[in-house]
Amino acid sequence: MASHQENRGVIFSGMRPTGPLHLGNYLGALQNWVGLQQDYDCIYCAVDIHALTTIETSEESAQIQPNIQAMVLDWLAAGIDPQRSIVFVQSHVPEVMTLHALLSMVTPMGWLLRVPTFKEKVRQMDETEESVNYGLVGYPVLQTADIILYKADTVPVGQDQVPHLELAREIVRRFNNRYGDTFPEPQAKLTEDPLIVGLDGRQKMSKSLDNHLELAATPEETARRVMTAFTDPQRITRDIPGRPEVCNVYSLHKILSPANEVSAVYDECTTAQRGCVDCKRHLASSINNYLEELRERRREYQQRPDYVRDVLADGANRARAIARDTIEEVYQKMGLA
Ligand code: SF4
Repeated sequence: MASHQENRGVIFSGMRPTGPLHLGNYLGALQNWVGLQQDYDCIYCAVDIHALTTIETSEESAQIQPNIQAMVLDWLAAGIDPQRSIVFVQSHVPEVMTLHALLSMVTPMGWLLRVPTFKEKVRQMDETEESVNYGLVGYPVLQTADIILYKADTVPVGQDQVPHLELAREIVRRFNNRYGDTFPEPQAKLTEDPLIVGLDGRQKMSKSLDNHLELAATPEETARRVMTAFTDPQRITRDIPGRPEVCNVYSLHKILSPANEVSAVYDECTTAQRGCVDCKRHLASSINNYLEELRERRREYQQRPDYVRDVLADGANRARAIARDTIEEVYQKMGLA
């Protein structure tokens, strides 16, 4: 197993286990994770404890394990290399909960209540700040613990998550001021988060909105879903020239079809030489080509029933070795040793 190299930055990033990933997850985050392995030691985590902050029934928690399996299978199929990167499940390293509790001693409540996504989440859950679970308030503290437990110095974030990381940096500064230099202040690595609009043509691709295209779907399922995509609403008959710039089928062509085909789509659409049904068939074929290798690898890994379990067990061992050292150091600094 490759050991982490001293002189490379350490990346930490996590994803909630929501089950099989979709094209939006791939283009927005996973593809970037794969590329980061070239230049960083990467630690990729299925954040199952975070998932519990919004889980309300035992039926939902029964989905956690199958969701982790499916998601990690997608990671590996996309090119996350468990020899190079540490791939593990958050709860398999219980030291993160210890660090969460200890960091909560240096984190003022006001910082947490001011986080814009906290207020947003409370609204979405139809709760109040008083009724919402304590785990949701402390979410950014657990997130900070996730990162610094492994002394990660770099976190890939989209622009919207920059305030979260700034909070993590403030918690680190406070801890270091009080107890001495212990943790690196994690730096944001701003990543492009392309807006991948779903099949409804209106909102970000998302499983909960059912406007998504699953990575692991069969080519037939993909084609069937693509045929439901919303196109230029003014193009009610084929002889009306289309407006690719307002059509999400075209925006997906731009990402997934070869450049020469994209310009042909544009020309043929704007001159009414191409119908939307053919255009969608074309897009489905581009998506299926684009994902062919990933799907092939996924099938291979799926045929090895213990593969994901072994990867996660190895990842947890490697993560825990780092975590134990950190907790020992923190105990000493905080006077608990
Ligand atoms: S032809 Fe293609 S790009 Fe033009 S409106 Fe129809 S689906 Fe969209």
